[in-house]
Amino acid sequence: MARFQQKQNKSRKKRQNLTIREQTQCRFCRDGKSYIDYKDLDTLQKLLTNRGKIFSRKRSGNCAGCQRKVKTAIKRARFMALLPYTN
Ligand SMILES: [Zn+2]
Repeated sequence: MARFQQKQNKSRKKRQNLTIREQTQCRFCRDGKSYIDYKDLDTLQKLLTNRGKIFSRKRSGNCAGCQRKVKTAIKRARFMALLPYTN
């Protein structure tokens, strides 16, 4: 019984953290960027796993519009051989 209660407390804590994180603005909206450059590899590489996959919106903290721009930018960079399709 005590074990079960502990688990519940943990999940509650996690949920609180998530709600706090969701209130912050996405990094591109904060900077006021309207266009995400595919040649800007430093910022794009922060949004990729070490296997070359794109982080989800929940993980990266981007808003829906910026995630779409990131997606096209990363796909352009991959086509231009600046970023890997896979590692
Ligand atoms: Zn945004």
